[in-house]
Amino acid sequence: MGLQLFNSKSREIEEFKPLKGNTVRMYACGPTVYGYAHIGNLRTFVWIDLLRRYLKYKGYTLEHVMNITDVDDKTIKRCKKEKKALSEVTKKYTKAFFEDCDVLGIERPETITKATEHIKEMVALVEKLKKKGLAYDADDGVYFKVADYKEYGTLVQLAGLEAGKSGRVKADEYDKDNVQDFVLWKLWDKDDGDVFWETSLGKGRPGWHIECSAMSMKYLGEHFDIHIGGVDLKFPHHENEIAQSKGATGKDFVHFWLHAEHLVVDGKKMAKSLGNYYTLRDILKKGYSAKAVRWLFLSHHYRQLLNFTFEGLKGTETTLKSFYDFLDRLDDMNGKVEIKGMVKKAQQDFEKHMDNDLHISEALAVIFDLMHEINKLGELTKKDAAQVKEFFYKIDGVLGVLDHEKVEIPDDAQQLVNEREDARKKKDFAGADKIRDKIEKLGYVVEDTPKGPRVKQL
Ligand code: AMP
Ligand code: ZN
Repeated sequence: MGLQLFNSKSREIEEFKPLKGNTVRMYACGPTVYGYAHIGNLRTFVWIDLLRRYLKYKGYTLEHVMNITDVDDKTIKRCKKEKKALSEVTKKYTKAFFEDCDVLGIERPETITKATEHIKEMVALVEKLKKKGLAYDADDGVYFKVADYKEYGTLVQLAGLEAGKSGRVKADEYDKDNVQDFVLWKLWDKDDGDVFWETSLGKGRPGWHIECSAMSMKYLGEHFDIHIGGVDLKFPHHENEIAQSKGATGKDFVHFWLHAEHLVVDGKKMAKSLGNYYTLRDILKKGYSAKAVRWLFLSHHYRQLLNFTFEGLKGTETTLKSFYDFLDRLDDMNGKVEIKGMVKKAQQDFEKHMDNDLHISEALAVIFDLMHEINKLGELTKKDAAQVKEFFYKIDGVLGVLDHEKVEIPDDAQQLVNEREDARKKKDFAGADKIRDKIEKLGYVVEDTPKGPRVKQL
């Protein structure tokens, strides 16, 4: 069996295969660049990166497109508040977003598209919807006529709600209890300041939903493999994207819709007022490593709420150190133990769990178990140790957390280790213990092995 993924469209696990050949065409809704990304946003982008890397691991070629939402209600509100030009605000936070991605080891999609550079395509799509009778002019913009699009309600069940009956909505974000005609093109009003385009639809700016329909179809075609984002985007954003795209082309829009659950902090929704709202920068300033943050984000299944706690992050730092220590030790092995088929079996199990809708916790348990088993076996032959290391680095192509700089022991710690050895040789065990404490104060711990003392980071 190949890769199975939960498709939000069918609400079932389905076998994934690209629609055309070996290339996966995937569109990910990108960041709205009106502030620093918070750790919830970044959890979603780490998960998208995990899927991206796993698809490549499975031998697919990727055509991954991500947009930058650089014009919408939030960006305009922000630049008004800061009394700055739209482009100044969006450039600053686009740069910050990619800095965060780099720190977290998130690979760049093949194509990155800015909404403001695709106004022409958005206008053409709205014109098409008007011609088809699915869009109409109102005094403040052009709206999608939900009641005339019979398939509205693909991703969310809207039973009992009468589409379009409750009026129309100009805001980009709204509640699903109130299905309304939604805006495609917003005619300029004074709150937009100098943000507008003169087009055949009038002076104004695009609605948020049309942006992603226009950009995804431009780069990936009218029918493509995967559309991905956080669970909050299901409605209205993705539901409206489907209506706009399928309404305009008459073709099925996306094959697989994938959505990740949110991140909460200490069991609560993140909010500045609760003091539990964090950016990646806030967390790194507290001394945590980006690799631990990445590991924490990706080690929870994407369809489960991730409860972020600093305790959890501390635990992840410890886990990572044990992997680093293990990988470094493999380099020094030159023993007699052979591992036989252990690596092959671990690889099969890792893939089995990842193929099962990216069940990452089980996949990670396989590599934990392999590490523990090998630790129990003792010193491997040089050849087998190299094979194990090669396996860990292969799967790190998917995980992106295991590659690390070998820990260098500073001179002062090494000096103490030597002094401790001298004390032990003289059977001064009390003295040796005192020196061990000093070494620990420097952040290192000594293990006595048959080959002599081994030092690792605490
Ligand atoms: P935005 O920058 O608001 O457009 O969001 C970028 C991505 O972050 C989208 O895929 C959202 O669904 C996702 N997102 C927003 N809030 C959270 C959260 N608390 N946890 C996880 N993902 C989130
Ligand atoms: Zn989008």
